[in-house]
Amino acid sequence: MAKEKGDKKRSDAQAAQAGLAALSPFELKDELIKAAGGGAVERPANAAMLNAGRGNPNFLATIPRHGFWQLGLFAMRESERSFAYMPEGVGGFPRRDGLEERFDLFLRENRGVPGIDFLRGAVSYVRDQLGLSAGDFLYEMCEGILASNYPVPDRMLKLSEIIVGQYLRREMIGKHPFVGEFDIFAVEGGTAAMTYIFNTMRENHLIKAGDTIALGMPIFTPYIEIPRLNDYQLKVVNLEADVANGWQYSKKELDKLRDPKVKAFFLVNPSNPPSVKIDDASLEHIADIVAERPDLILLTDDVYGTFADNFVSLFALAPKNTILVYSYSKYFGATGWRLGAVATHRDNVLDRLLGELPADAKKQLHTRYESITTEPDKLKFIDRLVADSRTVALNHTAGLSTPQQVQMVLFSLFSLMDTPDAYKNALKRLIRKRKQALYEEVGISFEDDDPNQVDYYTIVDIEFLGERAYGREFVDWLLKNTEPSELLFRLAREARVVLLPGRGFGTQHPSGRVSLANLNESDYRQIGRAMRKLIEEYVERFNAATGSKLDKTRVK
Ligand SMILES: *Cc1c(COP(=O)(O)O)cnc(C)c1O
Repeated sequence: MAKEKGDKKRSDAQAAQAGLAALSPFELKDELIKAAGGGAVERPANAAMLNAGRGNPNFLATIPRHGFWQLGLFAMRESERSFAYMPEGVGGFPRRDGLEERFDLFLRENRGVPGIDFLRGAVSYVRDQLGLSAGDFLYEMCEGILASNYPVPDRMLKLSEIIVGQYLRREMIGKHPFVGEFDIFAVEGGTAAMTYIFNTMRENHLIKAGDTIALGMPIFTPYIEIPRLNDYQLKVVNLEADVANGWQYSKKELDKLRDPKVKAFFLVNPSNPPSVKIDDASLEHIADIVAERPDLILLTDDVYGTFADNFVSLFALAPKNTILVYSYSKYFGATGWRLGAVATHRDNVLDRLLGELPADAKKQLHTRYESITTEPDKLKFIDRLVADSRTVALNHTAGLSTPQQVQMVLFSLFSLMDTPDAYKNALKRLIRKRKQALYEEVGISFEDDDPNQVDYYTIVDIEFLGERAYGREFVDWLLKNTEPSELLFRLAREARVVLLPGRGFGTQHPSGRVSLANLNESDYRQIGRAMRKLIEEYVERFNAATGSKLDKTRVK
């Protein structure tokens, strides 16, 4: 009787686990938060819970935000100046004549106010370093921040595109040789970039149901989930990065891209969740494969590139084949702003493949886009992204809101002007100190001399770390005697610590993703201690069950 009851309890638990196994890590996080007593909604006021599941940083860039608000005050002055005074609250557009002089006056009047020095520096950078007209720049920014016109051009405001282009060049290409120019589409974060790219590739027959794409695993979960949707029905080849190989892809894995069936390769670099940038040899290996397979489409999501040392994007090595996705969310602590960019080289494989489509597909696409251009066959892939983002028919009101573009430009200029990399180095110090605090408390040492490690996240790989600390026998026992996500739920229930399951990102071993971006150092110490306590308890249980005599306090 008792046994039956036990079995029933166990099968209920298994059923619950099976249901949970189907959840994306972000949905499972909500279950973990409930287990941690946090309720369905995350509340910052819930101080007792330590939620390291979120990628959302707890830091943000203040200087370019100060600049934004001061610029807004100046633009308001311009608007009210351009109309005869109307007490009802009616203003007008800024005026181009004398704009620079009035801006200088505004800066003088507000000397010492936060954001003013930054704006002065930004205008002089635009004029002296980029060789653009300061007046035209100020006009674009004032009009943009007042948001009194639709975004024109819809893909991106003109000077804004040049400035964001310089930023992407500095952060993603650096000193790597790069021939030619690229176009940018300003979008509502990396999220919109992904949605738009998948959709336009399908609408334009670059990927169709049954086609094969490759994913660099483990990867940000949506890249796993989108291809499976009914909308896409893609076959997927996984390229596996191995924890034992410092989360790099072996040549053998990369060689899967040589298969002509693989139409596109989607990569997050530096990766999420291992948070490791691809090493130079692998980047070059991919570039070599592309040289042999000039039809291969690459997408690189470089959201974390700015956190890496000496980062070079795949976009720099294979510019003609690569769609670059970038987001301002993480580096500037700006997830609520929704700021991202898609970039493609002016001479790219996508446009070439569009030109080589069969006649019937071309005819259909001609019809699709003929309402927006007299030469639909020549419409570039990136402009198709813009049109498709608003169901083609609303192309004339497409584009990212202009105040968003202004903040994007100010973030970019802030970074371009910071030649000593003070902001960047401060962020790197911050996340790396948190990681050190975490592992110190866990008591398992980790290699910290890998120059490719980025440390925005860290994966606590039970199998890899457990084996190193306590041996293979212990790990085998642990895996056999614990349910998937049991450790994560126990951490949530007993220590109120929330991590995301690595499995949801396609890791090979059971693991937890700890975001190093969203809590304070003392919190990471507390998380480390909770993990240590849990591990020690399992070591005791292992000793009791097997008669072994592992020293649970062993530190490696
Ligand atoms: C956070 C993240 C995104 C989403 O970025 P948003 O700009 O906030 O939409 C995209 N890709 C990766 C790899 C991310 O980690």
